[in-house]
Amino acid sequence: MCDQKGACTRWMYPGLVFIVIAFIYGTFIAINMYPQIQRHYLLPSDHPADPHAVTADMGEIVGIMIGFHIVFIMVLISYFRAMLTSPGYIPETSFWKEGDFVILERHNALIRELINDQTAPITEEAKAVIRSLPVVERKQKSGKFRFCKACGCFKPDRSHHCSICGKCVLRMDHHCPWVNNCIGYSNYKYFMQLLVYLDVTLLFLVGALMPRFINVFKPILSWPNFLKYDLPIILAFTISVFLMGALLGFTWYHLTLIAKALTTIEAKEKVNSRDETIKRRWEIANVKYQMDTVYLNFRHVLGSPLFWLLPFDVNGMDEDAGTYRYGPWVNIDNHAGGNLTRKADDNMCKYFNI
Ligand SMILES: [Zn+2]
Ligand SMILES: [Zn+2]
Repeated sequence: MCDQKGACTRWMYPGLVFIVIAFIYGTFIAINMYPQIQRHYLLPSDHPADPHAVTADMGEIVGIMIGFHIVFIMVLISYFRAMLTSPGYIPETSFWKEGDFVILERHNALIRELINDQTAPITEEAKAVIRSLPVVERKQKSGKFRFCKACGCFKPDRSHHCSICGKCVLRMDHHCPWVNNCIGYSNYKYFMQLLVYLDVTLLFLVGALMPRFINVFKPILSWPNFLKYDLPIILAFTISVFLMGALLGFTWYHLTLIAKALTTIEAKEKVNSRDETIKRRWEIANVKYQMDTVYLNFRHVLGSPLFWLLPFDVNGMDEDAGTYRYGPWVNIDNHAGGNLTRKADDNMCKYFNI
């Protein structure tokens, strides 16, 4: 089962996530909600033993149960989609295997000049050239095309080799141990959905658990009851608050990355690099992905806003078809067009003949 070295260890992280989810969910339903439902249907003598159980009217209980389960199911769907969807690997085509790039020498010279003269403005003309190139990023020392020895192919812009997955990942953002998968070109949308739905679910949980949590400060009437009812509530509430704080910050960070047309790797290793040349190289490469507005930057990554909250692949992220959205600018006449990303993919396929 665990054919690869460390494969089992890597599943420990998602395993831990499911244990935490099961504990919080079980506590929320069994200790917080179930006694409230019982109160409406049982005789007072059969009421649950929890002396600190809260009461609510049936309408409120039904509202909480439906609202919570809608967002909770979305968490599970986006979690599995982020975990099981391939992040996108370099197509096994001769284009990438052989690296048969046709780039005019004057275009290469222009990029070299821009890298060497870091104060030179990137003119509109230079931007048009950068946006038309199949590959902009180069090896730092030699200036040659980037090549991955392990995968045996040339690397498209923004792709990086993940030592854990053992493959080059397209538009690699980062390797996420919690989903045991790389987050890249094809599953970034699901990763963002996971973050957003987790935030909403945790907000919901913290709000719904709050009245019962306040009751734990009432005098302890019996220690067995405290251990059975109050302690799990204290733990579930505290973990939820902690996770909510951490995840809200993380979600905000990723929203700012999308707004600036950045990946985590680019933000950490390039934009904030102390090496001015690395920063300059990123500035030039980023021209290829930077759209006119923040909204279009979001569309470039997440597709049509109609589907931002739905876990469907509607952007032509079809790895089997050999597509790779290597840049939004190539051959797009109307950037605000209705089907922006699909159009970019189609044009790229024509351009690359893959
Ligand atoms: Zn590789
Ligand atoms: Zn990985």
